[in-house]
Amino acid sequence: MLDVPVRKVTIIGAGIVGLATALTLQSEGHSVTLIDPRPPGSGTSFGNAGAIVSGGVVPTAVPGLWKRVPKMLLDPMSPLKIRWPYLPRLAPWLLRFLDASREAKALKISRDLSTLTEHCLDAHHRLADLAGARSILKPVGWLKVYRDEDAYAGTAYDRGLMDLAGVNYQHLNSDELRQLEPGISRDYTVGLFQPDASFVSTPYALSQALFAAFTERGGVHHQEEVRRFEFGDNGEPRAVVTTHAIHPVETLVIAAGAWSKQLARQLGSKVSLDTERGYHLSFARTEAGPVLNRPTLFGGPQFVLSPMADGIRLNAGVELAGIDAEPDFTRIKALVPLAQQCLPGLSGEITREWMGYRPSTPDSKPVIGRSPVHGNVLYAFGHGHMGLGLSAITARLIADLVAGRESQISLAPFAADRF
Ligand SMILES: Cc1cc2nc3c(=O)[nH]c(=O)nc-3n(C[C@H](O)[C@H](O)[C@H](O)COP(=O)(O)OP(=O)(O)OC[C@H]3O[C@@H](n4cnc5c(N)ncnc54)[C@H](O)[C@@H]3O)c2cc1C
Repeated sequence: MLDVPVRKVTIIGAGIVGLATALTLQSEGHSVTLIDPRPPGSGTSFGNAGAIVSGGVVPTAVPGLWKRVPKMLLDPMSPLKIRWPYLPRLAPWLLRFLDASREAKALKISRDLSTLTEHCLDAHHRLADLAGARSILKPVGWLKVYRDEDAYAGTAYDRGLMDLAGVNYQHLNSDELRQLEPGISRDYTVGLFQPDASFVSTPYALSQALFAAFTERGGVHHQEEVRRFEFGDNGEPRAVVTTHAIHPVETLVIAAGAWSKQLARQLGSKVSLDTERGYHLSFARTEAGPVLNRPTLFGGPQFVLSPMADGIRLNAGVELAGIDAEPDFTRIKALVPLAQQCLPGLSGEITREWMGYRPSTPDSKPVIGRSPVHGNVLYAFGHGHMGLGLSAITARLIADLVAGRESQISLAPFAADRF
């Protein structure tokens, strides 16, 4: 236990970010309460591809993307979809997203991201150790595969950013790729392999392990939805009002994923946060089923196949449609024959259809830090495509803030008032 003043901390949101933060704070002696109407880890954190990409330094908005977007929007098989009635509400986020794709900005964003990603694996090891769950993290790396060298050449920009950040990666020729992943179609002949990345074959099991450790040590969990806040005479929030009760708060952490925008707004912070909705299909395992050893992104269709404990998971899609629209599984289902070509022998028997809400800022960077408005409010949301990977390091940074400790990472690039 570290020698830090003990605080009462209330965390809104029990996704992977809230859970990691809860257990980390508790391990430093704080008294922690988690509030979430859903079972812990059952939201977006349930259905991701399980990749902890320690070299994830490439932002979503990269130079030249805007030229490709119109074609992508017209292609029914493309990973990107906008539901047009949502466009007026999306427009400010989209303009910022396009702005973030400018060369100098993308470079700066990548540098900022690398300050988090370089510590993310170490932070995950420490977090998993707190829960006695180190074996959940599998050091199998992160693989992207391409049909030929021309397609691989399209990753030059990404590799440039990875070089600048000192990310360890390897080019794999056809034989090397076969050795690593014998089950992948021979149509794919080139690989980009990041050996230092890790994999969680059941993200929900990680959430459950963190939650079990948290409650075993006396952590409090209210299965309630936060509706609003009450403010004290000093103007700071002093209680959260939920569907069931009013809970007094001392230090408050907002870790409510894609829902954080509304909560932050009530607390006086106008953050640019939307959701990039993403889908998964889970396929039954069969005895003669294909071998897949690690999460693998297939260049071209741009989907990920992951060897989850309960079946092969196809993760695909970025759908810009807001939080309220009904899921539409048409596109991901249309990808099934393609997935079966990429991984011959993949069963067509779908055992789960799922959609989740990536909490995405336009500049691909999370919001981590103290609220500029309220001294007792901390933000930990907006992790977009990398919330599993960045959850543990985010928790460490929040723990530094709660303890009043100087942190090894500057939080200025992740401030809530940067938009
Ligand atoms: C298809 C797909 C694939 C992905 N693959 C990867 C990957 O391989 N690696 C990776 O690192 N990331 C990946 N991600 C991203 C990652 O899953 C997310 O960034 C991460 O799960 C976000 O975690 P979170 O805790 O912020 O949000 P969530 O898991 O969404 O949790 C937020 C919680 O807040 C709660 N909440 C909301 N409003 C309130 C309220 N008013 N009161 C109380 N509680 C509230 C919700 O109920 C929810 O439980 C993927 C995402 C998708 C969609």
